[in-house]
Amino acid sequence: MLSGFMEKRLAGKWIAGPTVDDAITRGKKFKALGIGAIFNFLGEALTSSEEIEEATNTYLNVIKAIEPEDKMFQVSVKPTQIGLSVSLDLAKKNLDRIVKAAMEKHLFTWIDMEESQLIDSTIELYRSQIETGSVGLCVQSYLRRTLDDVKALSKEGGIFRLVKGAYTEDEKVAFKAKSEINKSYIDILEYMFENTKMFMVASHDEIMVEKAAELAEKYHKDVWYAMLNGIRNQYLLDLQKRGKQVFAYIPFGKKWIQYSVRRMQEAGHMSLLMKSMLHGKKI
Ligand SMILES: Cc1cc2nc3c(=O)[nH]c(=O)nc-3n(C[C@H](O)[C@H](O)[C@H](O)COP(=O)(O)OP(=O)(O)OC[C@H]3O[C@@H](n4cnc5c(N)ncnc54)[C@H](O)[C@@H]3O)c2cc1C
Repeated sequence: MLSGFMEKRLAGKWIAGPTVDDAITRGKKFKALGIGAIFNFLGEALTSSEEIEEATNTYLNVIKAIEPEDKMFQVSVKPTQIGLSVSLDLAKKNLDRIVKAAMEKHLFTWIDMEESQLIDSTIELYRSQIETGSVGLCVQSYLRRTLDDVKALSKEGGIFRLVKGAYTEDEKVAFKAKSEINKSYIDILEYMFENTKMFMVASHDEIMVEKAAELAEKYHKDVWYAMLNGIRNQYLLDLQKRGKQVFAYIPFGKKWIQYSVRRMQEAGHMSLLMKSMLHGKKI
């Protein structure tokens, strides 16, 4: 009963629906308002070859459904849904299939970042595609190592999507205090404005977003801004009206529970999330 209620609410607000068609339909609604879409098929930590193949094929189907050269539509892939939980080679092979299909249509592909134990292999996965210039990597400001990773990868042409980070991590590897995570976010932002060509500011936090907007003016640099579908759609619209290039990250698929639990666990603003679920602007 509760899960049925939650599913209906979540499917409506945060998740586009179970199918590729649902994702593209939701993406087109955003696009009509001048907001781009980043499509993410739900599912992670897959070890069955059928499920990994299904996830890879689903991304290929999303790419098939997008018009060539559509700069408003991108895809974002979790390494462990395309094989990283089995082997790095399998993930590389599947990522290569996705990136090749995307590049044929001049579309951009993102790699999501997952738990900290996967960072080294995810970076290696990214390095297998970095030279294409058509693939970006998500990086997390809560990790103590991230600024160093960004420094190393930016020398190789890295393109980044900066987030705070969504997993529960040990304090040996991650900052725990909000103030430290935010300081790290701003330090990395400043490094990116000075040293990288293009990147994405992915946050719902006005302090981070407005700091990025201020630095964009200072450095005369346009960057991408992104938020998760349904969390602060009105803010995305406001940024779009201010002339920013904005994207909504749109999850779709049947495996909505893990994604939703992670959103609800995000410390500090459960009530904001519930508010956005019940009253936030739906697009
Ligand atoms: C496009 C995108 C892609 C992502 N990809 C990844 C990924 O690959 N890997 C990963 O680990 N994480 C990813 N994340 C999640 C991310 O790491 C954070 O967990 C998530 O974005 C919450 O952090 P925050 O920056 O929004 O700030 P928070 O610190 O969670 O929130 C800060 C402030 O934002 C405001 N706010 C937040 N929600 C609302 C609301 N509903 N209404 C009003 N105000 C609100 C409030 O002022 C709040 O105090 C992604 C996030 C985005 C936006």
